[in-house]
Amino acid sequence: MKKNIAVIGAGTMGNGIAHVFASFGYQVDLIDVQKDILESALKKIEINLNRQLKKGVIRENQVSETLNRIRISTEMQTAAQAGLVIEAVIENDNVKKDIFKKLDELCQPETILASNTSSISITELAAVTSRPDKVIGMHFMNPVPVMKLVEIIRGLSTSDETFNTVFETAKSLQKTPVEVNDYPGFISNRILMPMINEAVYCLMEGVADKEAIDTVMKLGMNHPMGPLTLADFIGLDVCLNILEVLYKGLGDPKYRPCPLLKKMVAAGHLGRKTKKGFYTYE
Ligand code: NAD
Repeated sequence: MKKNIAVIGAGTMGNGIAHVFASFGYQVDLIDVQKDILESALKKIEINLNRQLKKGVIRENQVSETLNRIRISTEMQTAAQAGLVIEAVIENDNVKKDIFKKLDELCQPETILASNTSSISITELAAVTSRPDKVIGMHFMNPVPVMKLVEIIRGLSTSDETFNTVFETAKSLQKTPVEVNDYPGFISNRILMPMINEAVYCLMEGVADKEAIDTVMKLGMNHPMGPLTLADFIGLDVCLNILEVLYKGLGDPKYRPCPLLKKMVAAGHLGRKTKKGFYTYE
């Protein structure tokens, strides 16, 4: 595969993905709808590179070398020459389908189109293109420069060639890729979200208070943080949205979102980003 890639969406995940690819020698075109979002993404990447420098993860010259490999643009057309395009825009299937249609028209026929979606069907995204064999999921974890895992999701029509190329690409970033078939929530959210949901049910039913629930999972199961703390980190709206995808996609009542979770989202208590979720934040 050509060592030039494009990342669509320069938010939390997009800037992390651009950072990691550029760190490992890829030329990156980072594309978003607004110039100021792109400029703050570049600033964020610089801050994160300097953090890596302080920790001794990278050498001094790598900061500028990495930044020099990233170009920013508000034009989707910039992705036309990329060997691999990774879409990391907001989690909305219509927005993503529009982008896949456009990319399919403007990219070279051999270009692989990947999505970083947490829950939207790769098979459905592939179906809006004329190259479903070259569409795949590349699900990075947040924060991308730190987390080793990448779920590589095969849509129904993803070819072995596409899968192998993307699997090897993830390894070239010193990540650990894991092969997953396209079902709602893949592996990560299929297992994580029901656990978080069950923790919210425990809280709602008065099994224990929030600190006790988190302490049991931290100290008893050796999780780095409790499920309610983690839900606040992820965003309660994001958790609810993924649970709804699981509930609808699998049709099993075991994925029914907890009414307390729904109520908190309705109240605008979304976790860290609104300074109030299961816990409050300064
Ligand atoms: P975000 O809201 O931080 O960023 C999304 C970016 O997409 C924004 O900068 C927005 O301007 C841009 N965008 C929207 N429409 C666009 C368009 N038409 N063209 C170009 N750019 C457009 O979101 P995020 O948290 O980075 O999530 C991005 C994707 O990654 C989602 O699919 C999400 O499910 C997935 N994901 C998120 C996490 C996480 O922890 N945040 C983890 C894994 C996967």
